Amino acid sequence: MDCLFCKIAAGEIPSTKVYEDEWVYAFLDIEPQAPFHAIVIPKEHIKSADQINSQNSLVIAKVFEAIAKIAKNENLENGYRVVNNCGADAGQTVGHIHFHLLARRNLAWPPG
Ligand code: 5GP
Ligand code: ZN
Repeated sequence: MDCLFCKIAAGEIPSTKVYEDEWVYAFLDIEPQAPFHAIVIPKEHIKSADQINSQNSLVIAKVFEAIAKIAKNENLENGYRVVNNCGADAGQTVGHIHFHLLARRNLAWPPG
């Protein structure tokens, strides 16, 4: 399958890894929007959040377990934001579900 994030998770395209386990891969965003900006993905190819169902939702739980571990490893004790863009109106540009993990600056709310 011709998917950028599947290739990154498989190591076929280089990335700066911040975390990996059996289900999850996380790497630094190439165009960071905060001093710490990682992309956290399930290794399983799921296109977007609207494709989550009872068959594949376990890997999404694993993503959030990984995020808690990354936050501890990276000392994000001041807080962080997790963002998922789903579909065109939200600005999803890569068709493999991913969660932005943003930290180390004051993050505006509402995000705009
Ligand atoms: P989206 O806009 O789909 O929510 O987020 C896609 C994110 O992936 C963007 O923040 C973009 O900077 C990042 N990205 C796109 N291509 C690459 C790449 O080849 N390597 C890395 N590390 N990040 C990428
Ligand atoms: Zn993929």
